[in-house]
Amino acid sequence: MSILKVARLGHPVLRKITDKVDIEKISSKEIQRLIDDMIDTMREYEGIGLAAPQVHQSLQISAIESEKNPRYPGAPDIPLNILINPEIARMSEETVEGWESCLSIDDLRGKVSRSTEVDVLAYNREGEKIILDASGVLAVVLQHEIDHLNGMVYLDRMKDFTTLSHMNEFQKYWAEK
Ligand code: ZN
Repeated sequence: MSILKVARLGHPVLRKITDKVDIEKISSKEIQRLIDDMIDTMREYEGIGLAAPQVHQSLQISAIESEKNPRYPGAPDIPLNILINPEIARMSEETVEGWESCLSIDDLRGKVSRSTEVDVLAYNREGEKIILDASGVLAVVLQHEIDHLNGMVYLDRMKDFTTLSHMNEFQKYWAEK
């Protein structure tokens, strides 16, 4: 297993629509190793989600996990989820504004409006169909990760950039004390 290099904003791979993974190939060594490396990379850089284009692979794979993450101290624990070819089947009209950041966009954080609930259909790393009926932080992370698979980043979802902050300034002026 290894830690992969993270693509940063400006790299064209982040703006490409990713390819679906051939379901027959989920069990292949290549895909299984990519998934292991994505998990390692996400944990190394303390992300709560990582999409394959962020490690230069234009494929519909995303990993999500949150366990006492120092970058998101208030976030609840989310068990490890591997999502292959995820699709949003339903999203709530009700939205919530929350702070987002991204391993591909260093040192910045901004407020984004997201649906409070989403249902996502995907395959897991065993190639089984799964349904996630998500709310709260998981719903937001799912929308952020699925955007990556469609060549989008959270900046594209910001209504305006008045909250966009460097981490130091976020801690100083925006973080709830
Ligand atoms: Zn991201």
